[in-house]
Amino acid sequence: MPQRSYFDWNATAPLRPEAREVLERALSLPGNPSSVHAEGRAARRLIENAREEVASLVGARPGDVFFTSSGTEANMLALTPAIETAAEKRPRSRLLLSAIEHASVRAGGRFPREAIEEIAVGSDGRIDLAALAEAVAKSPRPLVSLMLANNETGVLQPVAEAAGIVHAGGGLLHVDAVQAVGRIACDMAMLGADLLTLSGHKIGGPKGTGALVRKDDDIHLADPLIRGGGQERGLRAGTENVAGIAAFGAAAALARYDCDTEARHMRSLRDLLETGLKAISPGAVIFGAEVNRLPNTTLFAVEGLKAETAVIAMDLEGVAVSSGAACSSGKVQPSHVLAAMGVLPELTRGAVRVSLGWTTTEADVDLFLSAWRKLTTALSKERRGMAA
Ligand code: PLP
Repeated sequence: MPQRSYFDWNATAPLRPEAREVLERALSLPGNPSSVHAEGRAARRLIENAREEVASLVGARPGDVFFTSSGTEANMLALTPAIETAAEKRPRSRLLLSAIEHASVRAGGRFPREAIEEIAVGSDGRIDLAALAEAVAKSPRPLVSLMLANNETGVLQPVAEAAGIVHAGGGLLHVDAVQAVGRIACDMAMLGADLLTLSGHKIGGPKGTGALVRKDDDIHLADPLIRGGGQERGLRAGTENVAGIAAFGAAAALARYDCDTEARHMRSLRDLLETGLKAISPGAVIFGAEVNRLPNTTLFAVEGLKAETAVIAMDLEGVAVSSGAACSSGKVQPSHVLAAMGVLPELTRGAVRVSLGWTTTEADVDLFLSAWRKLTTALSKERRGMAA
């Protein structure tokens, strides 16, 4: 098989070998974690060990971690009017979101459409804190949902500042940290998060695993999505995905130990890639480059070059990148993130996302750059031919 270079880590990361080992071992255990016999207790131990690892990754207590089937499900579970605290048992009637949230947050969970308000972002891709303050002032006790890092641009959001605004207005803050966890430090207390979402497959765990973490037991989600046998302390019924959860825990442990080293590694290669890209395409626009971004993400566009063309041409050269636009059921939709940043549609259509990970090498970056050079040379030849 010819060399392939994978640059789509924000879509999903490969399973870490250590997580695979744990997964395979756990798959051969027979017990149900709810059973009291030794087999059941062995399965329970795997889940509780994983709970400790996931809790440590975000500075929480194990008892505040609830496993779900995905980041999407954790977001859905969090976004409900029925979030109670000891002091406040009344339902929350407003949900405030930034205009650049992931589809699973934009859908609004269990809030009716008319109760949801979008908060603008600036041209740098960061939420407008003045607009947030204004919306909070108008909405008593809102639930606010903000992502820590955007999945398209990688731009980091001022979540801790937003938390101050939300809490001063009697609101609660949910943080979708799916893209940030394992790439930058994520501590619930430092972020001021009341609830936080993680996804296993973005940190090298298996696909189909996720978790919702609460700040402490003062936060009570009174409206589970799945009712039944009372698993996950009544919040998520159904026999647990023991092997998936155990492997998620193993990935969480590695993500915690290796976060700084991996971030340095990804940043240096990402910077090399951006320098090379600018040398080949001096007109390339890198979105969010002027503010703090994840160390692994570059979203860029070159005017006149369509993202679909670029993604297919790069794929043929062995390089997996993605288009910045969301693609569902074969239809490419213009990116709501770039639209919210005020980027013109001509440029939005060309947005290509390159995302790196812990196994990316300098050889991968070289392959990306030579494929990109080939693509742009072919394109300018074609244009010269058309002009002649
Ligand atoms: N939130 C963000 C910011 C994401 O990027 C994603 C996935 O891409 C999700 C949530 C959903 O996570 P999952 O794929 O585990 O459902």
